[in-house]
Amino acid sequence: MPEFLNILNLDAHYGDFQALYGITLHVDPGEVIAIIGANGAGKSTLMRSVSGLMKDGAEAIRFQGQKIGALRADQVAARGIALVPEGRQLFPSLSVEENLILGGQLGRKGPWSLKRIYDLFPILEERRHQPSTSLSGGQQQMVAIGRALMANPDLVMMDEISLGLAPVIIKQIYEALPGIVGQGMAAIIVEQDISKALSVSRRVYCLQEGRVSLEGASNSVSREEISRAYFGV
Ligand code: ATP
Repeated sequence: MPEFLNILNLDAHYGDFQALYGITLHVDPGEVIAIIGANGAGKSTLMRSVSGLMKDGAEAIRFQGQKIGALRADQVAARGIALVPEGRQLFPSLSVEENLILGGQLGRKGPWSLKRIYDLFPILEERRHQPSTSLSGGQQQMVAIGRALMANPDLVMMDEISLGLAPVIIKQIYEALPGIVGQGMAAIIVEQDISKALSVSRRVYCLQEGRVSLEGASNSVSREEISRAYFGV
């Protein structure tokens, strides 16, 4: 298997506070993995580290055979890693379509275009000239996903995309996921909803207090193993 994303012994700090301890994980090309764990376990910090938003990790993160741990966020994005951040972080003064177009500004070639995003989430085409803030939370999440895809990444990382959304919208987004990932594009799905996480991924990692507490195939880890890894009981 060619080298894709390899993280070896990654630490992360916020000032004196250590949030990650020796994280080791990998993603194979085109693979979908899930990262689960309780509030504060370090999931977002791990996504931030890979995205070039943390200071640590210069030696610890390799992507497609090259060290990326010391790169800035824009340089990481240019290498083909896109983040759908927790809380969406859209540009509030811009329309839906302007937000999507901004996602494509790196000019990477690939299958994703405005048309394909609109095919995936037709409601966004209907709303394309509206300010992104006028959309419902679920529709804004669709814009955030679409914006990341417009970058035509090789790896997309989705941080808690179902947080705060109505179950019907979560279902809609998760039904769209197989059409998004696993066709050459790899994905890291960060999710507090364990069954959702397991249903879309090939392998799962659980974090607990900044450490990997479980790694396994999503279709074979047991409820007991997950409870132990999640809550430490
Ligand atoms: P959540 O589900 O709540 O987002 P998480 O698993 O993503 O949780 P992180 O957000 O990565 O966890 O937080 C890991 C630890 O780092 C927590 O103890 C948190 O309080 C701390 N932390 C996160 N961001 C900061 C920050 N900007 N400054 C200081 N500490 C932080």
